[in-house]
Amino acid sequence: MKPTPILPGSAIGVLGSGQLGRMLAMVAKRMGYKIYTYSPDENTPAGQICDQEFTAAYEDTNALQGFARQVDVITFEFENIPTTPLKAIQGRVPIYPNPEILYIAQNRLREKTFLAGKGFPVVPFYPVSSRSDLTQGLAQCDYPLVLKTAGFGYDGKGQAKVGSAQEAEIAFEALDGKPVILERFIDFQLEFSVIAARNPQGEIVHYAPIENIHQHHILDISLAPGRIPLEIAQQASKIAQELMETLNMVGVLCIEFFLTTDGRLLINELAPRPHNSGHLTIEAAITSQFEQQLRAICGLPLGACNFRQPAAMANLLGDLWEHGEPAWEKLLAFPEVKLHLYGKAQARAGRKMGHLTTLSDDVETAFKTIQEARSALKAPATCKS
Ligand code: AMP
Repeated sequence: MKPTPILPGSAIGVLGSGQLGRMLAMVAKRMGYKIYTYSPDENTPAGQICDQEFTAAYEDTNALQGFARQVDVITFEFENIPTTPLKAIQGRVPIYPNPEILYIAQNRLREKTFLAGKGFPVVPFYPVSSRSDLTQGLAQCDYPLVLKTAGFGYDGKGQAKVGSAQEAEIAFEALDGKPVILERFIDFQLEFSVIAARNPQGEIVHYAPIENIHQHHILDISLAPGRIPLEIAQQASKIAQELMETLNMVGVLCIEFFLTTDGRLLINELAPRPHNSGHLTIEAAITSQFEQQLRAICGLPLGACNFRQPAAMANLLGDLWEHGEPAWEKLLAFPEVKLHLYGKAQARAGRKMGHLTTLSDDVETAFKTIQEARSALKAPATCKS
């Protein structure tokens, strides 16, 4: 195993090949690293940028061992990677964050049980793996509730808001009896995330809270700095630092919070990797979340998290392609807006195809500009002559 720090010229291995790997690869290339991606797919968002794209199943331990021989450190950009096959390469090459953290974060029940057990504030939840659990759980909880699959849920997939026992039963049946959790529906003022990084030496940094606005359970717009009271930001900062230490985290961790209408902070979810809400750090912060990930896993000093200017980010979902190609020339007429596209060939409703970022002197102006810029994409495109 190579001693840290892992310096430019070394090779980074990424498990997963989506847009988070792509944006990490861009930073790695800028900083003079080689970067290889591993996933079951070909011509992927990350693979298009990486030095080499390994295509094999996550369960293929021979292929994983071959991949591990080529790289100096391994990280991941996708949460649902099976952790058992990783045992075949553990100890041969550093894997950051520790796959045990990935294992916890992959499953809402494990994650919430871990957080509650360590005294962190979480949304009240009740585990359900059978009809009788459901009956007992419903008797103990107040409506409305949110029913969520314990595993493999993201962007609101596998979750339903229910207002009665009958609705809960229908939702449970629709999920084929998979283990779920019942969660109190939280009446929140706003949602925000704190993105933190920690290196193996124990140095911790984090960005100011980023405010998040969702549509249909999918992140729609992020604003930085979030419009959050200072004392709440301070509480969130303390939680983030304690959590990084409790997890012995190495890498980037995103903590998604609800601020309730009565002023309490609750953790909704963890993501042990860069997060969609942190994409605006590419233009808005001195060090982007992807550079922090690279620095953390390579055992380098972490970069400054200061924002240069207030910023807003808007996601571009596949729905925008419903009537053909979006009106790019209208968008590009906004001189202060930056376009990111992830190289995905097929646009599907709800699929994250790219995002826009803008900086401004104040967050309200950035918010307004980003909405106008995205709306302009819906205008009929000019025909090519
Ligand atoms: P999740 O996949 O759990 O992060 O949920 C996606 C989004 O659904 C969250 O960011 C919230 O906007 C909403 N949501 C999830 N759980 C709850 C809850 N218990 N109460 C209210 N809204 C929720």
